[in-house]
Amino acid sequence: IWCRYLCPASGVFAVLAKIAPLHYKVDRDAWDKHQGDFEPVNCAPLLDVRRMTSASECHSCGRCAGQRDAVTYSARSPFSEILDFNNPARTPDALTLVYGVLGVATAAFQWTLSPWLLSAKLAAAEWLVDHDHFALLDNDVPWWLLTHYPEASDLFTWLDGALILAYLLGGGFLLGSLLLIGPALAARALKTEHLSWQRFTLALTPLAAASVILGLSMLTVTHLKAEHLWLGWLPWFRIGLLTAGCLGSLWLAFQLVLRSTGKNAQKWNAGIAMLWPVGLMATVWTLVFFVW
Ligand code: SF4
Repeated sequence: IWCRYLCPASGVFAVLAKIAPLHYKVDRDAWDKHQGDFEPVNCAPLLDVRRMTSASECHSCGRCAGQRDAVTYSARSPFSEILDFNNPARTPDALTLVYGVLGVATAAFQWTLSPWLLSAKLAAAEWLVDHDHFALLDNDVPWWLLTHYPEASDLFTWLDGALILAYLLGGGFLLGSLLLIGPALAARALKTEHLSWQRFTLALTPLAAASVILGLSMLTVTHLKAEHLWLGWLPWFRIGLLTAGCLGSLWLAFQLVLRSTGKNAQKWNAGIAMLWPVGLMATVWTLVFFVW
């Protein structure tokens, strides 16, 4: 129950796994024809392996490999699942992608560098001092809640905590909502069955994967810098990964547009609409790595 419904990591990986190049493929005919004895599959997320067509909820644990001579670990095009209209594009997946992986997670990766957060903090602190409200400026926050290292003069105030929380939730919601404009306009322009805003949102999965890798690797880079390792390759790695994510999402979006039965003008409008979320994420990461 935890693995399938409650684990937050499962929700994120369920979205990113849609572009996994390797997956457990089930041959339904071979499964149904199999005669001999077999052990039931001990699948942690309790999947119906026989009917599994998506890599989303599969944890790739391998326990069902070879089951009934029908389950094999196979290569596939990373884009095949999103382009397959037999696999539903679900609203929870689309919202997790846009508000969770691209929204809140991106804000969480970059708040330490954000000049906007710093300006907001200075303005709020000035206002609090001017109005004799000092409670939020106390730094008696427990160590398990926020950074609290008095010996290193590294202390967070309650104001820091409140602003960080507001930045993550508010910034994540704002970014997610702005990103959604592109898929919503694309789906509206085409008005084609199966080409819903949810499916166009899932076209942003390659960009989300690049974004997660870029964000998670920031801490690794900090440690490598502390070890004085040569990092001359880093800007090129970041540019390459971001470009790959952007191009992957655009390719997916344009493939979806080409599957529409709409007129050319509608297709152009949908394609242009999908440039918006890709351009926005590219701008956000460019600010983080090369401007701030
Ligand atoms: S690989 Fe593991 S998680 Fe995936 S379907 Fe098989 S048993 Fe379930």
